[in-house]
Amino acid sequence: MKIKENLCTGCGQCEVVCPVQAIQIIDNIAILDNKKCVECNVCYRNAQCPVNAIRPTRLKWPRLIRNPFSDVISTHKLTGVAGRGTEEMKTNDITNRFEFGEIGVSIELGRPGVGTKLANVELFTLKLSKIGVIYEKASPLSALIIDNVGHIKEDVKNEYVLSAIIEFKIPNEKLPEVLRIIKDIENVIDTTFTVGIISRVNDNGKIPVVKNLEDNGFFVRSNAKINIGLGHI
Ligand code: SF4
Ligand code: SF4
Repeated sequence: MKIKENLCTGCGQCEVVCPVQAIQIIDNIAILDNKKCVECNVCYRNAQCPVNAIRPTRLKWPRLIRNPFSDVISTHKLTGVAGRGTEEMKTNDITNRFEFGEIGVSIELGRPGVGTKLANVELFTLKLSKIGVIYEKASPLSALIIDNVGHIKEDVKNEYVLSAIIEFKIPNEKLPEVLRIIKDIENVIDTTFTVGIISRVNDNGKIPVVKNLEDNGFFVRSNAKINIGLGHI
């Protein structure tokens, strides 16, 4: 993103909408910090700049990777899905990714207001790959994992994005190992992350994974969600 400082009147409309505080009004001019900017296009779309001073720039690799992980209406080339992740676990009724005996896990790094470097993803993937999790193929993030060890592409590690979602599945019995990894990384990571877990509900209405999580020291807040239209194939 670029702000034409010679046109700017310093109204501040772009400063308030930027989700990562990359714009600051200094001496009545909007100054954009390129290092912080995640290329989400929110200032361009939503600030309604009165003098049309905000212009998207043609992004080159690796900076280009910032946009699909930050712009909710950008369609990722790999998945064809608009938004930062895939249609993932919300669509299980139709996609059937997670069978009985399996658990789906999503780890979303960064959030609006915080963001994350893609290097943080590798903190997880190096450990998760070691225990043999199965990454979601349609996830844009999985395309950045380049080997069985869990390394991610070297040239994207310093790129800063609004959020990135690691999606994978495991057999039920691997859950304690995954939870241990999550606890370990919580102590060293420099951004926020959210863990989502999905398992099928038994015929008796019980969700077996809940006890497993509680036994491992996690507070569980069950959440049901209905998405109309997602996951249709
Ligand atoms: S919205 Fe436009 S005029 Fe207002 S501060 Fe931002 S760039 Fe300057
Ligand atoms: S593109 Fe997004 S992150 Fe960059 S300055 Fe605009 S609102 Fe902020």
